[in-house]
Amino acid sequence: MIVTTKKDLDAIKGLLSDKKKLVIVGCAECAAVCQTGGSEQVREMAEALSNHEVLATISIQSPCDKRISSRDLKRIAEEVEEADALIALTCGSGAQALDEVTSKPVIAALDTHFLGMVERLGRFYERCSHCGQCILNDTAGLCAVTACPRRVRNGPCEHILGTKCDVYPQRDCVWHSVYERLKERGMDALFLAYHGPVDWSKNHSPREEIWQR
Ligand code: SF4
Ligand code: SF4
Repeated sequence: MIVTTKKDLDAIKGLLSDKKKLVIVGCAECAAVCQTGGSEQVREMAEALSNHEVLATISIQSPCDKRISSRDLKRIAEEVEEADALIALTCGSGAQALDEVTSKPVIAALDTHFLGMVERLGRFYERCSHCGQCILNDTAGLCAVTACPRRVRNGPCEHILGTKCDVYPQRDCVWHSVYERLKERGMDALFLAYHGPVDWSKNHSPREEIWQR
């Protein structure tokens, strides 16, 4: 799930001085879970912008999916056409998808942070930084690339303090945790598996995945 937080409302209002007619679009998936773009936040945004003309509000299941945005926005096609801008309570990918499917100015109302694992509402953890060259099968399912602040792929590094990470001394070094978990599972030989350097040619932005048919 993509973790988002709300941008400062005054900063958003500051971008709307020449935009009177608005359509507010929420995300009923990730942003709804983050309570940044669910239907309640869409309603709150409409109230906060009541000195503008809010032509329509809509919650889209996955606004980052252009097929779904395109389909759902047809329900309010006239309002979208008339709008000076869309307010996107979505991740950055969703905001750009809305721009591409409507060709309207889109104001991004959220900041997008990371791909998160949800423990419960309000507790989101980064567990994968989408490196594209996954080593989870060698590390007993713990992502050292993300959990290690130096992103060491063959650890631990020379700075380890006993079993703790020197950067976050209150936390275990992830490579210590990897070793303990591998040992528990009778897989400790894997600890010596060597992970070569990241092939950055596969990792530069913007990344694409295009199926060849
Ligand atoms: S190694 Fe970590 S960052 Fe890379 S793909 Fe696997 S889980 Fe994600
Ligand atoms: S002590 Fe461990 S977690 Fe901390 S930077 Fe070094 S390898 Fe990474």
